[in-house]
Amino acid sequence: MTSTTSNRACIIGAGPGGLALARAFKNLGIAFDVFERHSEVGGVWDIENPGTPMYASAHFISSKTLSYFSDFPMPESYPDYPSNREIFDYMKSFAAEYGLKEHITFNTEVTAAEFTNDQWAITLSNGEVKHYRWMVCATGTTWHPKMPAWATETSTFTGEVRHANTYRHMDEFRGKTVLVVGAGNSGCDIVCDAATAGDGAFLSLRRGYHFIPKHIMGKPADVFGDEGPHLPMWLAQRVFAGLLRFINGDITRFGLPKPDHKLFESHPIVNSQVLHCLGHGDLIAKGDVERLDGKDVLFKDGSREQVDLVLCATGYDWIIPYVDTNQFSWKNARPDNHLHMFSRANQQLFALGFTETNGGIYKLFDGMADIIGRAILAQRDDAAAWNKLSTRIHEHTPNLSGGVKYIESERHATYANVDALKSEFKKLRKHMGWQELQMGYFDSAKSKCGAASE
Ligand SMILES: Cc1cc2nc3c(=O)[nH]c(=O)nc-3n(C[C@H](O)[C@H](O)[C@H](O)COP(=O)(O)OP(=O)(O)OC[C@H]3O[C@@H](n4cnc5c(N)ncnc54)[C@H](O)[C@@H]3O)c2cc1C
Repeated sequence: MTSTTSNRACIIGAGPGGLALARAFKNLGIAFDVFERHSEVGGVWDIENPGTPMYASAHFISSKTLSYFSDFPMPESYPDYPSNREIFDYMKSFAAEYGLKEHITFNTEVTAAEFTNDQWAITLSNGEVKHYRWMVCATGTTWHPKMPAWATETSTFTGEVRHANTYRHMDEFRGKTVLVVGAGNSGCDIVCDAATAGDGAFLSLRRGYHFIPKHIMGKPADVFGDEGPHLPMWLAQRVFAGLLRFINGDITRFGLPKPDHKLFESHPIVNSQVLHCLGHGDLIAKGDVERLDGKDVLFKDGSREQVDLVLCATGYDWIIPYVDTNQFSWKNARPDNHLHMFSRANQQLFALGFTETNGGIYKLFDGMADIIGRAILAQRDDAAAWNKLSTRIHEHTPNLSGGVKYIESERHATYANVDALKSEFKKLRKHMGWQELQMGYFDSAKSKCGAASE
């Protein structure tokens, strides 16, 4: 069955990004539909969403104080770092507060999206094809697990090897010696579960990292940083590195490698438990893995450990499988969109959520969702405004590093500094004469109901 819809936008995914878009489009009076393959909103935060990387012990990494959607703070009763269940409840309340569910078709996957005759032909898992003038991909970045090469050669290994996105509960570790590979925030959380519930726990790190505690002087680390004097980056790196040395001391004492980069030059590991577990002997730090061998994991330094379960917290491929890759430009296998949202190849294509940054992301999502909505309105109603914006998209290449020289890795190839992003959004709004998001900006989305004009 085929249907045609003009001047309508299609949002794919009803995770936090898709919800932010739905609210912004409703607020701006843009006609839109959302398609979500799962039966509920919330994206990764619904532990029942098949393929989610969520686990029972997961808590927010950024604090509730700086990480809520604009105009919709998290409940007072929430702790500084809410649990995954609390964030999931928050997402559902957000959708209810702004009447977003009526725009979402659940249990419906977008299997293909083709751009023909100046519109998007969107094929749904029920076989239907729908047409839209604009498409926004908000399908997340943690659904296509990436495994190291050695982990695919398991024929001689007697233990189990899997990606961390299959991990749900620390009961899985009972009676087992566990190796977690990768010291990102999830890897660090999970290995501490293993240190608590397992018979033994190892963490394999390829390089040294800085470990930022979740609280500094009784405040969430991001709040502490946000309230503090706003120093130039070079000075902030020195001051905060000194503070970390004061709090953590020499972390090589715990068997960890010395960081090979300055503070803030890699995605922050915000974790107070790893050093605790190492200091109590419940966790042992190891180097890079060479290969699996019988009952053992062999490490590049020649050491070996007997392990029952290897969990690879080794990241994800950022792919958007339902769209031709030529519709976006790419840098080190990550979408390289203007300001992380505008496709450089197709003006009727946007993305939201394909951004990694050093802070809570939901307020950024709000700002981006509103900007995408305004770009759509310009294309719909105001050719001069769209020309102005289009010129900027193609001619302005902002530096989003915030003065930080990020380490060379796939992950950091398109990494953005949160303050640099915010400042670019501000400049864009000024350039286009668009108002800033002030308190109450999204309130009118609550009262708007039914279909917007096309
Ligand atoms: C353990 C953990 C802790 C985290 N902590 C923080 C934190 O403290 N602060 C923070 O800001 N962020 C945190 N994050 C990052 C978090 O992933 C993002 O904040 C957020 O979930 C990204 O939202 P999203 O909507 O872009 O993607 P997702 O949450 O991945 O949602 C994408 C949605 O798209 C749907 N979908 C995918 N493909 C299709 C398709 N083809 N058709 C239809 N639907 C589709 C999926 O089912 C999903 O519902 C954390 C993540 C994890 C895993």
